[in-house]
Amino acid sequence: MALKGKKLTSEHKKKLSEVHKGQVPWNKGKKTGIGYWKGKKRSEEAKKKMSEAQKKIDKYWMRGRIVTKETREKIRQSLLGRKQSEETKKKRSLALKGRSTSRKGIKHTKEAKIKMRRIAKRYSGKNHYCWKGGVSTLAVKIRKSCYYKDWREAVFERDNYTCQDCGISNTYLIAHHEKEFSKILEDNNIKNFKDALACDELWDINNGKTVCEKCHKKRHPKVNLLCQKIKL
Ligand SMILES: [Zn+2]
Repeated sequence: MALKGKKLTSEHKKKLSEVHKGQVPWNKGKKTGIGYWKGKKRSEEAKKKMSEAQKKIDKYWMRGRIVTKETREKIRQSLLGRKQSEETKKKRSLALKGRSTSRKGIKHTKEAKIKMRRIAKRYSGKNHYCWKGGVSTLAVKIRKSCYYKDWREAVFERDNYTCQDCGISNTYLIAHHEKEFSKILEDNNIKNFKDALACDELWDINNGKTVCEKCHKKRHPKVNLLCQKIKL
């Protein structure tokens, strides 16, 4: 409707009422529709009949029906030899392009959100199969610290900001750990930040090597995507 949501000015309303003046409503005096049934009661039998009739025109009439194997085979055979014209294919592809997921625009209810959060919680952190006792959070803490940044800078400086594998410079550089960072934490039984600060092996620049992104990937072919994202 073009007028949906628009407010009519009082002047406009007046004009409209004048236009319709003298016109007879199409259902005036007719004993049909809602007006006819106003105040009257339908018998129980009539009600039953109506509900049954309604059921018959259920648009999901195929729902729950079992398609026999024979029927399925018949449908398959009839579709087998069929070839779609280029035009049909185009139409189909266009039709499918605009199709959104069935949930598009539908918001989750509050209850559903709470339920989802509860499920997510059940499988995260300590309950996740990758959980190693909170090591990763400590590793991130160390990597984000100024001490780690100093170590990295020292490694870069010693290597003259050049990839030690391919000799490239002027690119994104990574201070690669010859001995894996997580292994150092494990071997030295580092459980907190204080332990980390006291560990000499962790801050030894001889364990670091400047490499470019490409060469770093070669050194860790199976590197975790999450670790790459942190890029520290
Ligand atoms: Zn390189």
